[in-house]
Amino acid sequence: MTLFETVLTPYKNMKQFFLLIIIFILLLSYSVFGNRETIAITPTRVFRQTSRPKIISRKKWKAKEPIGKAQKHTIGYITIHHTATLQNEKITIEKKMQNLQNFSQNESLLASGKAKPAWFDVPYHYYIGVDGKIAEGREIKFVGDTNTEYDPTGHALIVLEGNFQTEQPSSRQQKSLQKIVAWLAFNRKVSASKIKAHNDYAATACPGENLKKLLPALRQKIGEINRASEKR
Ligand SMILES: [Zn+2]
Repeated sequence: MTLFETVLTPYKNMKQFFLLIIIFILLLSYSVFGNRETIAITPTRVFRQTSRPKIISRKKWKAKEPIGKAQKHTIGYITIHHTATLQNEKITIEKKMQNLQNFSQNESLLASGKAKPAWFDVPYHYYIGVDGKIAEGREIKFVGDTNTEYDPTGHALIVLEGNFQTEQPSSRQQKSLQKIVAWLAFNRKVSASKIKAHNDYAATACPGENLKKLLPALRQKIGEINRASEKR
């Protein structure tokens, strides 16, 4: 039966007739409410931009328990790092997190000759792999760790995989960075001016020039999102 016949013989085929009515109502309501959403696009987009990105949990990457004790803190800053290791597409993010945790929770001698103590846990709160996947590091309620001279109390620490003195952050990493920073900034009420690089606080090459030069645009974007969210 063609659509035309269906319309002409509605009472002979009640099922199809009602189906057409339902489709008609759906189209009508879409044209009314769909348009309303177009007008109010800013809050909708802000909501999407500040929502929690997908994060691989500690449980998912089979994190070990933290060791010893760590201080608790309230987030007031977002600070960006690089791993300073070369990007590697072949290793899964789960394995990278396990390796980083093993390194973190053991003592070692750094290239600088400085002794690194055994840390409580992974030093960073979030890790962004070269593929753009995000994994949960140390629980954000705990202060992170550093080998450099600054106090990371109050800092949400985000690390991107790579050595950005020589490599480039992948476009997927850049997208994930913006997502997680927007989510953190909105939920922890961090202003755009408090989104900075590790080397804004300590003498280090971290997070590398190629990542650092992206931060002014990131701050601007987060500023726009924060301002739009205040109008909600
Ligand atoms: Zn760093």
